[in-house]
Amino acid sequence: MSETLTIALSKGRIYKETMPLLAHAGIIPKDDPETSRKLILDTNHDDVKFVIIRATDVPTYVQYGAADIGVAGKDVLLEHGGEGLYEPVDLEIAKCKLMTAGPVGAAAPEGRLRIATKFVNCARRYFAEQGKQVEVIKLYGSMELAPLVGLADQIIDVVDTGNTLKANGLEPLEHIADISSRLVVNKASMKMKHAKVKELIDHIADAVKSK
Ligand code: AMP
Repeated sequence: MSETLTIALSKGRIYKETMPLLAHAGIIPKDDPETSRKLILDTNHDDVKFVIIRATDVPTYVQYGAADIGVAGKDVLLEHGGEGLYEPVDLEIAKCKLMTAGPVGAAAPEGRLRIATKFVNCARRYFAEQGKQVEVIKLYGSMELAPLVGLADQIIDVVDTGNTLKANGLEPLEHIADISSRLVVNKASMKMKHAKVKELIDHIADAVKSK
């Protein structure tokens, strides 16, 4: 029996923007995750399957080899830490910036800065590098609300147009990292399924170049 390649993807923007790249590699899913409730999707290749999971879970599935390959935002990868993963291709999709943001014109507080974010590891690392003492408050969404209700002085979030910040009286402050989606590969799969994995990486890299 031929070995199976499992590709971990999240629904929404990453899925939509990854499909043309996978199509370039000749891989077409048999179902649409937006309409199907299936979590494992078959493709036109018997030996290639998709698993449809939360974006933040993609690095974990690939790290433990539950998926051989995945597509994850650099923000998610920075937060995860990237253990057990290769990151061979920048797909140049879903681009944005990881930034600090705060109320427009607000002066930094006297004492320790309070930062609300879902990117707690990124926040700790970033402020440690700056030699700044901060208190990091973990949130799971709607970070923009935190400074408005006095939960935090600033937030760390991904920013695209900046419209969401602006609509909530916030402004972008410090640029932490440029973000785009990356192809990630399990380190053992890269060795054990080398020919198949390498072929897929090459096709996808080629699709990115010819965009
Ligand atoms: P913005 O265009 O800055 O108003 O972005 C709107 C919201 O969409 C932001 O608060 C982010 O949470 C989210 N967002 C924008 N771009 C991305 C991206 N490339 N990846 C993940 N989330 C994003």
